[in-house]
Amino acid sequence: MTLGLHEWELPGLREKAVSLSIDLRIRPSMVMWDETSKTALTIMWNLDHEDCPFFSQERICKIYKDRPLVCQTFPLITAGLLSHVIQRISEPLRIGYGTCPSVPKVSFQENKPLFLGSRHVFKELFRAFGEAFVGSLRYEYATIMVRDLLKDAETKGKICISPMNKEIVKSILRSKPVGALAFLESKGLLSEAELKDSVRSIESFTVKSLQERLGVN
Ligand code: SF4
Repeated sequence: MTLGLHEWELPGLREKAVSLSIDLRIRPSMVMWDETSKTALTIMWNLDHEDCPFFSQERICKIYKDRPLVCQTFPLITAGLLSHVIQRISEPLRIGYGTCPSVPKVSFQENKPLFLGSRHVFKELFRAFGEAFVGSLRYEYATIMVRDLLKDAETKGKICISPMNKEIVKSILRSKPVGALAFLESKGLLSEAELKDSVRSIESFTVKSLQERLGVN
């Protein structure tokens, strides 16, 4: 099943699976090719199961309190929202929030550059989706963090991410992918403490902190 798990979430998920006697299978879902080291770097993982093994027969999530970041975004998909605001991108961004008619609709001016009205948009999305919006921010922040770490390594000339083409796909299929963050750590480009700090700042996106930042209840 498609989820989009981040690397630092995997050990915790594996631990939970062991404690629940679940035979958890995880596989890479997003892989990039580093031409410098000829290594396939995995930046995201999926569960290698048709249905989520953490979903119980009673139709509840067995790990709800500790569910992955991506599960915390449900039912909201705000891919690109934070990047748009941070990078002050002026093209309009469509924010998807599912097709279920019961999902609240949010109004904001789509033609206006998002960064100009970001406070209003953030407030509207927070009012409509509450915790799911906070989860979405957390998830997107995590994705930006991994992307920036790779960009930084590339700028320093330590890695060279190849554009995808048939040859690169063949190279990826022939190789054994490694976790991008573990790879950066092994090259001295990321320390355990730095990663912990970054994960902590992702976790600092809480309902309370957003309420405070936006001045809403
Ligand atoms: S919320 Fe729980 S049951 Fe649903 S996909 Fe995530 S881990 Fe699985």
